[in-house]
Amino acid sequence: MRTYRIEVTPPDISPYSAGNTTIPYVLSWDSGVAGPHVLVNALTHGNEICGAIALHRLIADGVRPVRGKLTCCFANVAAYRSFDRAHPNASRYVDEDFNRLWNEATLSGPRRSVELARARALRPLYETADLLLDIHSMQYATAPLMLIGLARKTEDFARRVGVPALLVRDEGHAAGPRLRDFGAFAAPEAGPVALLVECGQHWESAAVDVAVETSWRFLAASGVLPADRSARILAAAVPPQRLITVTDVVTIETDDFRFTADYRGLEVIAAAGTLLARDGGREIRTPYDDCVLIMPSRRLGRGQTAVRLGRYAGLGVAESTVRPSTTLRSAQDEELS
Ligand SMILES: [Zn+2]
Repeated sequence: MRTYRIEVTPPDISPYSAGNTTIPYVLSWDSGVAGPHVLVNALTHGNEICGAIALHRLIADGVRPVRGKLTCCFANVAAYRSFDRAHPNASRYVDEDFNRLWNEATLSGPRRSVELARARALRPLYETADLLLDIHSMQYATAPLMLIGLARKTEDFARRVGVPALLVRDEGHAAGPRLRDFGAFAAPEAGPVALLVECGQHWESAAVDVAVETSWRFLAASGVLPADRSARILAAAVPPQRLITVTDVVTIETDDFRFTADYRGLEVIAAAGTLLARDGGREIRTPYDDCVLIMPSRRLGRGQTAVRLGRYAGLGVAESTVRPSTTLRSAQDEELS
């Protein structure tokens, strides 16, 4: 297994422990002028440091809204505080994945964990957000991605933000809903918008640049900054965005899941039927030509997402060339997982 150099320094976030709301590690400023509640969220996963650095810099820069309300939230602080350079993967979470808890049954259920306690404390905050940016990073160093869910409103806003260059329409994980899929964020039409940015490899300095740029452009697009400043920020040239639609989520069913190659993500597999992985006796093959692999995981545990499969929009491949049987079967697999 390849190891990555740790190029980033986790910032000291202890000055934010009291915050300025009733919730620790949450800072919020209300302009007093009508406008959206814009929330930038870091550390959904404790070892994804670029988001903490981006928030730290926003706060240090003295960012304040001139319309609406701006909130900076450090989410899974308990996991982040356990970050150890010798074991950087160990601090993703303490008890369970903070980003798989976001439905009513789990949040209001009887279970207890470090992450559930924090999720329950932060829930009222997220429920009042009109625009949420959730900053993440990835296990492998591949191009940054914006995960936009399925709603048109979210794609529209991601295009106003303008970065990163790859937008991924996806449904989420069988193991549990993400924060970006919580409640009204997932509603297809009107209502709040949540974006999840994957900035690059967890500990590469380039991921910090992406997190900072995405945060500022997100704030500019949201309308909480002065109009001339927003216009300046959004005028910076960026490459055109391309859309990948996730068609299949490969969820691990056995304790013996193996990829057939050392996939890193964003590989385009030319031929339909190419063997990607074996999960016990099950063979996982590409369902169509030019299939894109999205974020293959190193954490190959039963019930977890191993990889997502998708297609670039606008490749000249008609939607109808995806065999209906494949779509149906994968939809069913996902429900059973
Ligand atoms: Zn993450």
